Order: sequence, then structure tokens, then C-alpha cells
Amino acid sequence: MAALAHVRAVPMTRVAAAAAIPPSRSSHVDHRVLLGLSEPELQQLAVDLGQQKYRGRQLHHLLYKTKATEIHEFSHLPQAFRDNLREAGWRVGRSPVHRAVAAADGTIKVLLKLEDNRLIETVGIPVEDDKGSVRLTACVSSQVGCPLRCSFCATGKGGFSRNLQRHEIVEQVLAIEELFKHRVTNVVFMGMGEPMLNLKSVLEAHRCLNKDVQIGQRMMTISTVGVPNTIRMLATHKLQSTLAVSLHAPNQKLRETIVPSAKSYPLDAIMDDCKDYFLQTGRRVTFEYTLLAGINDGKEHAKELAELLHGCGGGYHVNLIPFNPIEGSDYRRPYKKAVLAFSEALESRKITASVRQTRGLDASAACGQLRNDFQKRPLLESSKSEPQLSPALEQDLLHDDLMVLVRISIVLLGGGRRRTLP
Ligand code: SF4
Repeated sequence: MAALAHVRAVPMTRVAAAAAIPPSRSSHVDHRVLLGLSEPELQQLAVDLGQQKYRGRQLHHLLYKTKATEIHEFSHLPQAFRDNLREAGWRVGRSPVHRAVAAADGTIKVLLKLEDNRLIETVGIPVEDDKGSVRLTACVSSQVGCPLRCSFCATGKGGFSRNLQRHEIVEQVLAIEELFKHRVTNVVFMGMGEPMLNLKSVLEAHRCLNKDVQIGQRMMTISTVGVPNTIRMLATHKLQSTLAVSLHAPNQKLRETIVPSAKSYPLDAIMDDCKDYFLQTGRRVTFEYTLLAGINDGKEHAKELAELLHGCGGGYHVNLIPFNPIEGSDYRRPYKKAVLAFSEALESRKITASVRQTRGLDASAACGQLRNDFQKRPLLESSKSEPQLSPALEQDLLHDDLMVLVRISIVLLGGGRRRTLP
């Protein structure tokens, strides 16, 4: 353990530089947003505005239970309090749905239009278990776009705009709950962006989703492709959530061709940090491995991956994700035979692995692609001119020809069913 306790020195290279995004792009800071505040903070706000403390509890209920989207919907509160909130510049912090599209398997991808007219994707993934109860997973974005440009990812190809604030992460979960009219049971930070490059807001949103929206820590997963020093930083918070690390290759050389940012964070340093995460939190690390036909899906790659993981000790699980093709990519989806052979090669070496289904494959887009399509179009001048989705329109959209896609490595629906490959 002592050997693990040192913090590995990693050169300040491209990824670390990306972590130091200039303020204008790293955050669009808005301090007068109610969503994301805790109950004690809301109580203090009520007191500061001349109200009694219990008004803060009412505010908390309105935000997280009633899910009010505007201050004028706070009908339980005195008009004077509502006026004071507005006059002081407060707002709820919810964004309109710009577009919602669904795949035949029930997965729905939503585009939210933020206050600065930028679009972010969030995905709702319903899964019915053997007993008939539905788990609803929200796959949330942590950035508008992503600066890391992984070679297989549509989000990376779409460029990077800015980090999301905590309320812009929390509101994605509430939007999914409203669309499905069902409680979100699981949250995965696997949408647009690299969560570790926006760790402060991700941790604040994680706290809010846990304490205020009441989603268990164990029902949440934070994923990363690897940003130097952040896994150790996350470990110090001792969250009971799962850490998912996207490997995609069993060795450094191949990994650098798939994940360009890997150059700044050697594989052995990542594995050391994952060991440390397990020791610090007691939570096993999940390794994501996207299978790309002819690139990283050979039995020799599986053997090498098994050796790499054996060196990591225990406390891990591998999710194999057959690549979901995206426009403009030379990568191909692996054949079923190759996927099964890879999985068996791991299991024969005592590595537990699951092959994850890729939801929404019947439709046409991949992670980040829907947003890319829409963001290329001129945006409306103001979110006020954007019509809200009426229930009828929403219904139309769900049957729209554009029906989606969603690569969403649904990965994290523990116990997910094995998919049928073509
Ligand atoms: S896979 Fe994740 S980290 Fe890589 S470019 Fe896409 S969103 Fe960014």
C-alpha cells in the first residue's frame, strides 16, 4: 500500500493543459441559480431575503420534488418572496428541450438548449429486469463537446466549447425523469465530455443528485478516459460510486493511436492509480474496452489485456463494447464471432467481462452525432423564441424519422443483457 501511496509525477502535456482551460471556456459561471443548492443553502437564502428558514425547505421541495422550472411556478411561496428572488436575479436554472428522439428499444436522446444557446445531449436508457421493474439510467454530459478527440468518438470530432456548471448536469437527470415520467435510478457520467476535466462541477452535481435528488451513490458511475492525477484526486473523496476507466487497448502504443490524449498518461500510471482507487474506496474499477474490428479485437489483444489486469490485482471488471459506427470514421464494428472469442479469451484467464449491448443501434446517430448535426445549424437568437415541447409535439418527435441512435455505452447498466450482434 505504501508503494501505491505516492502520487505519480506526470508531465504537464496536452491533457493536463486541457485541464487548465481558460476561464472563459472552462465555465460560464452563474451564481444566481437555485438548482444545485442544498437544503441548508436554500434555507440561508430564504433568511437572507427576509423569510423564515422553513421557506428554504419549501424551495428545496419545489426544485427537487415538484421539479418547478420557473420561479413563477412557486405558487406555495408568498408573492413577495418570489418577487424578491427575481429582483435579486435568481432563476431556477432549467433549460428547454430542443429536441428529443427515440430508438425502437426505448432509449431516448434529448438535446437541451442552454442559456447561451449551446446544445448538450443527455440520454435516458430504460431497462426492465427479470422481475419486471424498470431501471432508468440517465447518461449525462459534463462538457459542451470534448477537447480530447478520441478517434472513435463523434463528440470528440465535434470540438469543445466549455465546461458545464453543476445545475446544467443536474437538470439533465430531471429532464429524463420528466420525459419518461419515471424516477431515474442510475446516473452515468458518460455523455459528452471528459468528467475529470470538469471535476469540481461533476462532484457538486454528484452531491446534489445523491443528497437532493436522492439517487444512491452506488447507482452512479463516473467515467474517464484518463486525465493525469485526477483519479487519485477523486479517490480522496471516497465516493461509493463506480469509477469506469476507458482503456480501449491493452498496451500504450496501440492506446495512443485510439486515444491521442493517452500520450500524457502512460498505461502503467493509470493502472497504478486504479489500484489506489480500489484500495482507498473499496469500490471496484470498471474498465471499458470498445472493440474495433481488426484494430484491438484479436485474441492476442485479449491475452495482453488479461496480463495487464492481472498486474492490477483484484477489484475490477471489464465491459466490452462493440463499436457503433459513426459517420466519417474508418473504424468498423466487430463480428459476433470476434467479440465472443475476445470475451472467452478473457474469461479463460479468469478476467470477468460482460459484452454490453449498444442501445438505439436501429437509428442513425452515435454519441455526439445528433448534437453535431443540430449545432451546425444556425441557432435561434434567444431561448425564449424556442417553443417548448408540448405533449403532442413530444409524441410526434418520438416517432420522428430522425429516430436516433445513441452509442451510449450503456455499459453501466449492471447486469445488462448480452446483446445480439449482427
Ligand atoms: S470518448 Fe469521451 S473523452 Fe473521448 S472524445 Fe469522446 S467524450 Fe471525449
